[in-house]
Amino acid sequence: MIDDWSEFGLETRAIRAGQTRTEEGEHSEALFLTSSFVFNSAAEAAARFSGKTEGNVYSRFTNPTVRMFEKRLAALEGGERCIATSSGMAAILTTCLGLLKTGDQILASQSIFGSSVTLFDKILSRFGIQTKFIELNDYQVWENAFTPQTRLCFLETPSNPLTEIVDLRKMADLAHAHNALLVVDNCFCSPALQQPLKWGADIVIHSATKFLDGQGRCIGGAIVGSEALLGGDVYGVLRSGGTSLSPFNAWVFLKGLETLNLRMKAHSANGLALAQWLEAQPQVKKVYYPGLPSHPQHELAKRQQSAFGGLVSFEVHGGREVAWRVIDNTRLISITANLGDTKTTITHPASTTHGRISPEQREAANITEGLLRISVGLEEVTDIQADLARGLCQ
Ligand SMILES: *Cc1c(COP(=O)(O)O)cnc(C)c1O
Repeated sequence: MIDDWSEFGLETRAIRAGQTRTEEGEHSEALFLTSSFVFNSAAEAAARFSGKTEGNVYSRFTNPTVRMFEKRLAALEGGERCIATSSGMAAILTTCLGLLKTGDQILASQSIFGSSVTLFDKILSRFGIQTKFIELNDYQVWENAFTPQTRLCFLETPSNPLTEIVDLRKMADLAHAHNALLVVDNCFCSPALQQPLKWGADIVIHSATKFLDGQGRCIGGAIVGSEALLGGDVYGVLRSGGTSLSPFNAWVFLKGLETLNLRMKAHSANGLALAQWLEAQPQVKKVYYPGLPSHPQHELAKRQQSAFGGLVSFEVHGGREVAWRVIDNTRLISITANLGDTKTTITHPASTTHGRISPEQREAANITEGLLRISVGLEEVTDIQADLARGLCQ
Protein backbone atom coordinates (compact mmCIF):
# COMPACT_ATOMS: atom_id res chain seq x y z
CA MET A 1 0.00 0.00 0.00
CA ILE A 2 1.23 3.49 -0.86
CA ASP A 3 1.16 5.92 2.06
CA ASP A 4 2.83 8.98 0.58
CA TRP A 5 1.05 10.21 -2.53
CA SER A 6 2.97 13.48 -2.83
CA GLU A 7 5.17 12.29 -5.72
CA PHE A 8 2.20 11.21 -7.80
CA GLY A 9 0.33 13.44 -10.24
CA LEU A 10 -3.09 14.89 -9.44
CA GLU A 11 -4.86 12.53 -11.86
CA THR A 12 -3.30 9.50 -10.18
CA ARG A 13 -4.08 10.73 -6.68
CA ALA A 14 -7.71 11.46 -7.64
CA ILE A 15 -8.17 7.87 -8.78
CA ARG A 16 -6.07 5.87 -6.34
CA ALA A 17 -5.09 7.71 -3.15
CA GLY A 18 -6.54 6.48 0.11
CA GLN A 19 -8.02 3.20 -1.06
CA THR A 20 -7.76 0.20 1.25
CA ARG A 21 -8.92 -3.31 0.33
CA THR A 22 -10.57 -5.98 2.44
CA GLU A 23 -9.60 -9.65 2.24
CA GLU A 24 -12.31 -10.04 -0.42
CA GLY A 25 -9.98 -8.31 -2.86
CA GLU A 26 -12.55 -5.88 -4.28
CA HIS A 27 -11.14 -3.60 -7.00
CA SER A 28 -13.55 -0.70 -6.41
CA GLU A 29 -13.85 1.05 -3.04
CA ALA A 30 -16.04 -0.91 -0.62
CA LEU A 31 -19.13 0.73 0.83
CA PHE A 32 -19.32 0.08 4.58
CA LEU A 33 -22.97 0.78 5.41
CA THR A 34 -22.77 -0.07 9.08
CA SER A 35 -23.36 2.12 12.10
CA SER A 36 -21.11 0.20 14.47
CA PHE A 37 -18.22 -2.29 14.45
CA VAL A 38 -17.86 -5.55 16.38
CA PHE A 39 -15.04 -6.38 18.82
CA ASN A 40 -13.55 -9.79 19.55
CA SER A 41 -13.55 -9.30 23.31
CA ALA A 42 -14.41 -6.92 26.12
CA ALA A 43 -10.73 -6.01 26.39
CA GLU A 44 -10.55 -5.12 22.69
CA ALA A 45 -13.70 -2.97 23.01
CA ALA A 46 -12.17 -1.13 25.97
CA ALA A 47 -8.88 -0.53 24.13
CA ARG A 48 -10.66 0.84 21.03
CA PHE A 49 -12.94 3.12 23.04
CA SER A 50 -10.07 4.57 25.03
CA GLY A 51 -8.07 5.12 21.84
CA LYS A 52 -5.29 2.83 23.08
CA THR A 53 -5.57 0.79 19.90
CA GLU A 54 -6.61 2.17 16.54
CA GLY A 55 -9.62 0.83 14.72
CA ASN A 56 -13.27 1.28 13.95
CA VAL A 57 -15.77 1.92 16.71
CA TYR A 58 -18.85 3.71 15.44
CA SER A 59 -19.54 5.41 12.09
CA ARG A 60 -20.13 8.85 13.61
CA PHE A 61 -16.34 9.15 13.83
CA THR A 62 -14.75 6.04 12.28
CA ASN A 63 -15.90 4.53 8.99
CA PRO A 64 -13.60 2.94 6.39
CA THR A 65 -15.44 4.37 3.35
CA VAL A 66 -15.46 7.87 4.82
CA ARG A 67 -11.77 7.43 5.68
CA MET A 68 -10.92 6.54 2.06
CA PHE A 69 -12.62 9.75 0.90
CA GLU A 70 -10.76 11.77 3.56
CA LYS A 71 -7.39 10.29 2.60
CA ARG A 72 -7.99 10.90 -1.10
CA LEU A 73 -9.08 14.52 -0.66
CA ALA A 74 -6.16 15.21 1.71
CA ALA A 75 -3.78 13.82 -0.94
CA LEU A 76 -5.35 16.06 -3.60
CA GLU A 77 -5.16 19.23 -1.50
CA GLY A 78 -1.68 18.39 -0.19
CA GLY A 79 -2.85 18.35 3.45
CA GLU A 80 -1.93 15.96 6.27
CA ARG A 81 -5.44 15.48 7.53
CA CYS A 82 -8.98 15.66 6.20
CA ILE A 83 -12.21 15.50 8.19
CA ALA A 84 -15.32 14.73 6.14
CA THR A 85 -18.58 16.34 7.23
CA SER A 86 -22.29 16.05 6.47
CA SER A 87 -22.31 19.23 4.32
CA GLY A 88 -20.17 22.18 3.33
CA MET A 89 -21.85 24.23 6.04
CA ALA A 90 -21.10 21.50 8.61
CA ALA A 91 -17.43 21.77 7.58
CA ILE A 92 -17.42 25.51 8.35
CA LEU A 93 -19.37 25.04 11.60
CA THR A 94 -17.10 22.20 12.79
CA THR A 95 -13.99 24.27 12.02
CA CYS A 96 -15.32 27.28 13.93
CA LEU A 97 -16.54 25.27 16.94
CA GLY A 98 -13.20 23.45 17.06
CA LEU A 99 -10.93 26.47 16.83
CA LEU A 100 -12.84 29.43 18.31
CA LYS A 101 -14.17 30.50 21.67
CA THR A 102 -16.26 33.38 23.02
CA GLY A 103 -14.52 36.71 22.44
CA ASP A 104 -12.72 35.62 19.28
CA GLN A 105 -13.14 37.49 16.01
CA ILE A 106 -13.46 36.32 12.41
CA LEU A 107 -12.53 38.49 9.43
CA ALA A 108 -14.53 37.29 6.45
CA SER A 109 -14.71 38.33 2.85
CA GLN A 110 -18.07 39.94 2.11
CA SER A 111 -18.26 37.90 -1.11
CA ILE A 112 -18.93 34.48 0.39
CA PHE A 113 -21.75 31.93 0.19
CA GLY A 114 -25.01 33.28 1.70
CA SER A 115 -25.33 30.58 4.38
CA SER A 116 -21.76 31.25 5.48
CA VAL A 117 -22.70 34.90 6.06
CA THR A 118 -25.75 33.80 8.06
CA LEU A 119 -23.73 31.29 10.11
CA PHE A 120 -21.14 33.94 11.06
CA ASP A 121 -23.45 36.92 11.41
CA LYS A 122 -26.58 35.41 12.98
CA ILE A 123 -25.52 32.20 14.71
CA LEU A 124 -21.89 32.35 15.90
CA SER A 125 -22.51 35.95 17.04
CA ARG A 126 -24.96 34.59 19.65
CA PHE A 127 -22.02 32.75 21.23
CA GLY A 128 -19.87 35.86 21.41
CA ILE A 129 -17.87 35.24 18.22
CA GLN A 130 -18.03 38.39 16.10
CA THR A 131 -17.41 38.63 12.37
CA LYS A 132 -16.31 41.64 10.38
CA PHE A 133 -16.99 41.52 6.62
CA ILE A 134 -14.42 42.95 4.24
CA GLU A 135 -14.23 43.65 0.53
CA LEU A 136 -12.25 40.71 -0.86
CA ASN A 137 -9.61 42.65 -2.77
CA ASP A 138 -8.98 45.51 -0.37
CA TYR A 139 -5.77 44.30 1.35
CA GLN A 140 -5.44 47.57 3.29
CA VAL A 141 -8.88 47.12 4.86
CA TRP A 142 -8.00 43.53 5.84
CA GLU A 143 -4.74 44.77 7.35
CA ASN A 144 -6.47 47.48 9.39
CA ALA A 145 -9.22 45.16 10.61
CA PHE A 146 -7.02 42.79 12.65
CA THR A 147 -7.34 42.97 16.43
CA PRO A 148 -5.66 40.81 19.09
CA GLN A 149 -8.92 38.78 19.09
CA THR A 150 -8.76 37.91 15.37
CA ARG A 151 -8.36 34.14 14.99
CA LEU A 152 -9.57 33.37 11.46
CA CYS A 153 -9.63 34.99 8.04
CA PHE A 154 -12.23 33.33 5.84
CA LEU A 155 -12.63 33.76 2.08
CA GLU A 156 -13.55 32.23 -1.28
CA THR A 157 -11.57 32.77 -4.47
CA PRO A 158 -12.92 33.08 -7.14
CA SER A 159 -15.84 34.75 -5.39
CA ASN A 160 -19.49 34.15 -6.17
CA PRO A 161 -21.04 35.50 -8.38
CA LEU A 162 -18.50 38.08 -9.65
CA THR A 163 -15.45 35.77 -9.82
CA GLU A 164 -13.06 38.18 -8.05
CA ILE A 165 -9.68 36.61 -7.29
CA VAL A 166 -7.58 37.31 -4.21
CA ASP A 167 -3.85 36.67 -3.82
CA LEU A 168 -3.73 33.70 -1.43
CA ARG A 169 -0.02 34.10 -0.63
CA LYS A 170 -0.54 37.73 0.33
CA MET A 171 -3.59 36.89 2.45
CA ALA A 172 -1.76 34.01 4.20
CA ASP A 173 1.16 36.34 5.04
CA LEU A 174 -1.25 38.98 6.36
CA ALA A 175 -3.11 36.48 8.54
CA HIS A 176 0.08 34.93 9.92
CA ALA A 177 1.61 38.32 10.71
CA HIS A 178 -1.38 38.83 13.02
CA ASN A 179 -1.38 35.33 14.55
CA ALA A 180 -4.50 34.39 12.67
CA LEU A 181 -5.28 31.42 10.40
CA LEU A 182 -6.29 31.64 6.74
CA VAL A 183 -9.31 29.47 5.90
CA VAL A 184 -10.18 29.14 2.21
CA ASP A 185 -13.47 27.75 0.89
CA ASN A 186 -12.12 26.06 -2.27
CA CYS A 187 -15.50 25.00 -3.60
CA PHE A 188 -15.34 26.71 -7.02
CA CYS A 189 -11.90 25.54 -8.10
CA SER A 190 -11.63 22.20 -6.32
CA PRO A 191 -8.09 20.85 -5.82
CA ALA A 192 -7.96 20.08 -9.54
CA LEU A 193 -7.49 23.80 -10.31
CA GLN A 194 -6.18 25.36 -7.09
CA GLN A 195 -4.54 24.11 -3.91
CA PRO A 196 -4.70 26.88 -1.29
CA LEU A 197 -2.41 25.09 1.21
CA LYS A 198 0.39 25.42 -1.34
CA TRP A 199 0.03 29.23 -1.17
CA GLY A 200 0.17 29.27 2.64
CA ALA A 201 -3.49 28.81 3.63
CA ASP A 202 -3.96 26.85 6.86
CA ILE A 203 -7.32 25.20 6.26
CA VAL A 204 -9.30 24.34 3.14
CA ILE A 205 -13.08 23.96 3.28
CA HIS A 206 -15.13 22.03 0.73
CA SER A 207 -18.74 21.67 -0.13
CA ALA A 208 -18.36 18.19 -1.66
CA THR A 209 -21.92 18.71 -2.89
CA LYS A 210 -20.58 20.75 -5.81
CA PHE A 211 -17.67 19.79 -8.11
CA LEU A 212 -16.34 16.90 -5.96
CA ASP A 213 -19.58 15.00 -6.48
CA GLY A 214 -19.92 16.67 -9.85
CA GLN A 215 -23.31 15.27 -10.74
CA GLY A 216 -25.60 16.94 -8.22
CA ARG A 217 -26.46 13.88 -6.17
CA CYS A 218 -25.24 14.06 -2.55
CA ILE A 219 -24.69 16.65 0.19
CA GLY A 220 -21.36 16.56 1.98
CA GLY A 221 -18.31 18.57 2.97
CA ALA A 222 -14.74 18.40 4.18
CA ILE A 223 -12.03 20.22 6.12
CA VAL A 224 -8.36 19.80 5.11
CA GLY A 225 -5.28 21.01 7.00
CA SER A 226 -2.49 19.92 9.29
CA GLU A 227 -2.81 17.19 11.90
CA ALA A 228 -1.93 19.78 14.56
CA LEU A 229 -4.85 22.04 13.61
CA LEU A 230 -7.51 19.41 12.93
CA GLY A 231 -6.56 16.36 15.00
CA GLY A 232 -7.59 17.85 18.36
CA ASP A 233 -10.72 19.89 18.99
CA VAL A 234 -11.93 20.01 15.36
CA TYR A 235 -12.06 16.21 15.23
CA GLY A 236 -13.49 16.36 18.76
CA VAL A 237 -16.45 18.44 17.53
CA LEU A 238 -17.13 15.88 14.80
CA ARG A 239 -16.86 12.96 17.23
CA SER A 240 -19.06 14.45 19.94
CA GLY A 241 -21.12 16.89 17.89
CA GLY A 242 -21.96 14.44 15.10
CA THR A 243 -21.45 16.62 12.01
CA SER A 244 -20.40 13.41 10.23
CA LEU A 245 -20.58 12.38 6.57
CA SER A 246 -22.69 9.35 5.64
CA PRO A 247 -20.62 6.42 4.25
CA PHE A 248 -22.93 6.20 1.24
CA ASN A 249 -22.27 9.85 0.34
CA ALA A 250 -18.53 9.32 0.85
CA TRP A 251 -18.71 6.40 -1.60
CA VAL A 252 -20.48 8.60 -4.18
CA PHE A 253 -17.82 11.32 -3.71
CA LEU A 254 -15.02 8.75 -4.18
CA LYS A 255 -16.54 7.97 -7.60
CA GLY A 256 -16.78 11.71 -8.29
CA LEU A 257 -13.13 12.31 -7.43
CA GLU A 258 -12.01 9.71 -10.00
CA THR A 259 -13.19 12.02 -12.81
CA LEU A 260 -12.58 15.36 -11.06
CA ASN A 261 -9.57 16.40 -13.15
CA LEU A 262 -11.22 15.50 -16.43
CA ARG A 263 -14.42 17.26 -15.49
CA MET A 264 -12.70 20.44 -14.26
CA LYS A 265 -10.77 20.70 -17.53
CA ALA A 266 -13.99 20.27 -19.49
CA HIS A 267 -15.91 22.75 -17.26
CA SER A 268 -13.07 25.24 -17.78
CA ALA A 269 -13.01 24.77 -21.57
CA ASN A 270 -16.79 25.25 -21.79
CA GLY A 271 -16.60 28.19 -19.36
CA LEU A 272 -14.00 30.00 -21.45
CA ALA A 273 -15.85 29.34 -24.73
CA LEU A 274 -19.11 30.60 -23.24
CA ALA A 275 -17.49 33.69 -21.68
CA GLN A 276 -15.84 34.62 -25.00
CA TRP A 277 -19.11 34.15 -26.87
CA LEU A 278 -21.02 36.25 -24.30
CA GLU A 279 -18.44 39.03 -24.53
CA ALA A 280 -19.20 39.28 -28.27
CA GLN A 281 -22.99 39.63 -27.81
CA PRO A 282 -24.25 43.24 -28.18
CA GLN A 283 -26.97 42.65 -25.52
CA VAL A 284 -24.33 41.77 -22.94
CA LYS A 285 -22.92 44.70 -20.97
CA LYS A 286 -20.16 42.91 -19.03
CA VAL A 287 -18.83 39.39 -18.56
CA TYR A 288 -17.16 38.21 -15.34
CA TYR A 289 -14.80 35.29 -15.97
CA PRO A 290 -11.17 35.03 -14.71
CA GLY A 291 -10.08 33.47 -18.00
CA LEU A 292 -10.85 36.63 -19.99
CA PRO A 293 -8.04 39.18 -20.46
CA SER A 294 -10.68 41.82 -19.53
CA HIS A 295 -10.91 40.36 -16.00
CA PRO A 296 -9.05 42.68 -13.55
CA GLN A 297 -7.20 39.78 -11.87
CA HIS A 298 -6.63 37.67 -14.99
CA GLU A 299 -2.83 37.54 -14.46
CA LEU A 300 -3.21 36.52 -10.81
CA ALA A 301 -5.75 33.84 -11.78
CA LYS A 302 -3.25 32.46 -14.31
CA ARG A 303 -0.59 32.17 -11.58
CA GLN A 304 -2.78 30.81 -8.85
CA GLN A 305 -5.07 28.43 -10.75
CA SER A 306 -4.34 25.82 -13.41
CA ALA A 307 -7.55 26.75 -15.30
CA PHE A 308 -10.46 29.14 -14.78
CA GLY A 309 -13.38 26.91 -13.82
CA GLY A 310 -17.04 26.68 -14.71
CA LEU A 311 -18.58 29.79 -13.17
CA VAL A 312 -19.45 32.60 -15.57
CA SER A 313 -21.49 35.66 -14.69
CA PHE A 314 -22.67 38.38 -17.04
CA GLU A 315 -24.71 41.54 -16.97
CA VAL A 316 -27.28 42.24 -19.68
CA HIS A 317 -28.53 45.63 -20.86
CA GLY A 318 -32.12 46.19 -19.73
CA GLY A 319 -31.95 45.10 -16.07
CA ARG A 320 -34.22 42.54 -14.46
CA GLU A 321 -36.70 42.42 -17.35
CA VAL A 322 -34.11 41.23 -19.84
CA ALA A 323 -32.32 39.01 -17.29
CA TRP A 324 -35.55 37.19 -16.48
CA ARG A 325 -36.38 36.97 -20.19
CA VAL A 326 -33.09 35.15 -20.79
CA ILE A 327 -33.88 32.70 -17.96
CA ASP A 328 -37.48 32.13 -19.02
CA ASN A 329 -36.51 31.41 -22.63
CA THR A 330 -34.12 28.59 -21.79
CA ARG A 331 -35.23 25.04 -22.63
CA LEU A 332 -32.06 23.14 -21.77
CA ILE A 333 -30.36 25.01 -18.92
CA SER A 334 -31.78 24.27 -15.45
CA ILE A 335 -33.15 27.17 -13.42
CA THR A 336 -31.60 26.21 -10.08
CA ALA A 337 -29.04 27.67 -7.71
CA ASN A 338 -26.91 24.53 -7.43
CA LEU A 339 -23.53 24.57 -9.15
CA GLY A 340 -20.73 22.21 -10.05
CA ASP A 341 -23.00 19.82 -11.92
CA THR A 342 -22.53 18.27 -15.36
CA LYS A 343 -25.83 20.04 -16.14
CA THR A 344 -25.63 23.79 -16.81
CA THR A 345 -27.59 25.91 -14.32
CA ILE A 346 -28.66 29.56 -14.35
CA THR A 347 -29.65 31.97 -11.56
CA HIS A 348 -30.58 35.62 -11.12
CA PRO A 349 -28.55 36.45 -7.98
CA ALA A 350 -30.36 39.74 -7.16
CA SER A 351 -33.71 37.95 -6.67
CA THR A 352 -32.47 34.58 -5.34
CA THR A 353 -29.10 33.94 -3.65
CA HIS A 354 -28.58 37.63 -2.86
CA GLY A 355 -32.28 38.54 -2.51
CA ARG A 356 -32.18 38.99 1.24
CA ILE A 357 -29.59 41.76 1.34
CA SER A 358 -30.70 45.38 0.85
CA PRO A 359 -30.78 46.94 -2.64
CA GLU A 360 -28.07 49.41 -1.53
CA GLN A 361 -25.77 46.59 -0.37
CA ARG A 362 -26.43 44.73 -3.62
CA GLU A 363 -25.63 47.79 -5.69
CA ALA A 364 -22.40 48.32 -3.69
CA ALA A 365 -21.44 44.70 -4.34
CA ASN A 366 -22.22 45.04 -8.10
CA ILE A 367 -25.00 42.44 -7.89
CA THR A 368 -27.15 44.40 -10.34
CA GLU A 369 -30.65 43.57 -11.57
CA GLY A 370 -29.20 42.63 -14.96
CA LEU A 371 -26.70 40.11 -13.58
CA LEU A 372 -26.98 36.39 -14.38
CA ARG A 373 -24.81 33.58 -13.05
CA ILE A 374 -24.16 30.38 -14.94
CA SER A 375 -22.53 27.22 -13.68
CA VAL A 376 -21.39 25.84 -17.00
CA GLY A 377 -21.96 22.12 -17.37
CA LEU A 378 -20.53 19.58 -19.74
CA GLU A 379 -23.13 19.73 -22.52
CA GLU A 380 -22.06 20.89 -26.03
CA VAL A 381 -21.19 24.53 -25.53
CA THR A 382 -22.94 25.52 -28.78
CA ASP A 383 -26.18 24.10 -27.32
CA ILE A 384 -25.70 26.23 -24.17
CA GLN A 385 -25.06 29.31 -26.34
CA ALA A 386 -28.16 28.66 -28.47
CA ASP A 387 -30.25 28.25 -25.30
CA LEU A 388 -29.10 31.68 -24.06
CA ALA A 389 -29.35 33.34 -27.48
CA ARG A 390 -33.11 32.70 -27.57
CA GLY A 391 -33.77 35.16 -24.73
CA LEU A 392 -30.79 37.45 -25.39
CA CYS A 393 -31.43 38.17 -29.05
CA GLN A 394 -35.14 39.07 -28.99
C1 LIG B 1 -22.74 25.32 -1.55
C2 LIG B 1 -21.64 26.04 -0.90
C3 LIG B 1 -21.39 25.90 0.47
C4 LIG B 1 -22.26 25.07 1.39
O1 LIG B 1 -22.22 23.73 1.06
P1 LIG B 1 -23.41 22.71 1.39
O2 LIG B 1 -22.84 21.40 0.99
O3 LIG B 1 -24.59 23.14 0.59
O4 LIG B 1 -23.68 22.81 2.86
C5 LIG B 1 -20.31 26.58 1.01
N1 LIG B 1 -19.52 27.36 0.25
C6 LIG B 1 -19.75 27.52 -1.07
C7 LIG B 1 -18.83 28.39 -1.86
C8 LIG B 1 -20.81 26.87 -1.69
O5 LIG B 1 -21.03 27.06 -3.00
